Order: sequence, then C-alpha cells, then structure tokens
Amino acid sequence: MSPPIPVVIRGAAGRMGQAILRVLEERDDVVLAAALVRAGSAQVDRPVYPSTEVPLRYAEALAPGVTTGVLVDFSVAEAFDTGLALALERRLAFVSGTTGLDEPRRAALDRAAGSIPVLWSANFSLGVAVLTRLVRDAARALPEWDCEIVEAHHGRKLDAPSGTALALGRAAAAARGQDFDAVAVLARAGEQAVRREAQIGFAAVRAGDIVGEHTVLLATAGERIELVHRATDRSIFARGAVAAARWIAGRPPGRYTIEDVVFS
Ligand code: NAD
Repeated sequence: MSPPIPVVIRGAAGRMGQAILRVLEERDDVVLAAALVRAGSAQVDRPVYPSTEVPLRYAEALAPGVTTGVLVDFSVAEAFDTGLALALERRLAFVSGTTGLDEPRRAALDRAAGSIPVLWSANFSLGVAVLTRLVRDAARALPEWDCEIVEAHHGRKLDAPSGTALALGRAAAAARGQDFDAVAVLARAGEQAVRREAQIGFAAVRAGDIVGEHTVLLATAGERIELVHRATDRSIFARGAVAAARWIAGRPPGRYTIEDVVFS
C-alpha cells in the first residue's frame, strides 16, 4: 500500500476544519501533517486529537519541513490569499471550499494552477457533483423545457439563492449555450412576475434547521422532471473535501473540479 497522503488543514478550528479532522482520523490513506489556525487563536499549541494522544498541536504557521501533500483550506475569504501563497511556496496541491471569493481571488486560483494542482468548489458534496452532471445532461437533451431551481436552507443563511443553486443554474445555461446572467431570474414577486421563455428562475425557502436542499425542475406541457438533492448532515462536505485531497495528490498542475473527483 502507498504511504498516506500528508494533509495540512487551514481553518482547523472552524466547523469545517473540525469535521475534516474527524474524517482524517477515520481514514488510513491520508494523514494530518498540520492543523493551522488563525494567528492568536486560543487553539494554538492545544493537542489536535486529545482523545488519541497524537502529539500534534494546532499551529499558526506551517513547519518548514512540510513540502509534500495537500493544503486543504476552509477559512475566510480575507485569509484566502495567504493560504494560496503558502501552497505555492511549498508546492502543495491546493483544495479549498472557502466561499465569498471575489474576481481577483478566483483569477489567482487560475494563475496558481499553472504551478500546482488546484481544486476549489462551492460545494464538496459528491451527490451535488453528480446532480450537476445530471442537470447538464437533462438541460441539453431538453432545450425547450422550462428550467426552474428551488432551494431550501435554515433561516440563518445570509445569501439567496444559494451558491449551489446558482452553480446548478449556470450548468443548465451553459449546457444550452445560454448567457446565464441574461436568462437568470433570481426572485419573482409582484405583478410583472410572469415567466418568459428561456428564463431560469430561482426560489429560496428559509426554514428550521434545513442543511440544504436543491430541486432542479424541467417542465413542459404534460410532463416534468425533478432532480433533487437533500443534504442532511454537514459532514458530507468534509468527506468530499478529503476525497478531493486524496484524489488530487500527485496530479500535474492544473485546475480541477469536484466533478473530476467523482467521474474520472
Ligand atoms: P467557521 O467560521 O466555523 O471557520 C472558519 C475558520 O477559519 C475559523 O476558525 C477562523 O478562525 C479560521 N481562520 C480565519 N483566518 C485564518 C487564517 N489566516 N489561518 C487559519 N485559519 C483562519 O466557518 P466554516 O463553517 O468552517 O466554513 C469555512 C468556509 O468554508 C466558509 O467560507 C464557508 O462558506 C465554506 N464552506 C464551504 C463548503 C463547501 O462544500 N465548499 C461547505 C461548508 C462551508
């Protein structure tokens, strides 16, 4: 068996960081190389796995010896640049699910892909990766059918429609050769809300503790298809991120997607 892939977690004290640490503990094909937290964090120097007495501690900076493996970043957009710079400096593959990246940061990912393997995704669910593929195929096969996307999340979610709903809409539009911004209707209300041809409409539900549900509806006179994904546990994102880290290790520099992890 090949040696386990060293994985550096950045944002290790956060909700996703903690979930990823739990997944790493369960697998033997990946091993934690460092758990990085923000400078000044109360976690610094605390043991990472107190229950198993592994002598690894949360750190602000990556030890100089770590120059192989994968850096997995789930932090905040403002901290993203230094994370990407660290991966480039150490020649580590870069996997990130940090959201809210502006255009310059997305462009930086493309530039970095010239030197290291890079995989960024707004949604690391393997099920959503498959849903995206199904949506693309269905939208292409049925170009005249109406396409609408309904998403549901807990009431604390800040943005609507969700980034995943928008990504599904973009996939449908691209499959039909449409300009997404020209056909997307992000919300409907009032008297001018009639659906126009070729539109991709969105609706957002906010209620209770819903982790995340996405329904892509394709409809025509007399029949319709509904493609649905329901997330019931946030650990799916951590499992997908670790699967992506395992998959990307040792690949040539380039820009990869979560769909590549599932389908290649
Ligand atoms: P969180 O607020 O619980 O964790 C973020 C952590 O990053 C915090 O602990 C913070 O201290 C830390 N951090 C900030 N600056 C840092 C730095 N310079 N170095 C190291 N750590 C630093 O948030 P979360 O729920 O864990 O989400 C993290 C990110 O992942 C967000 O952008 C969120 O939207 C995104 N997310 C993506 C997916 C996906 O599938 N792509 C799923 C869930 C969350």
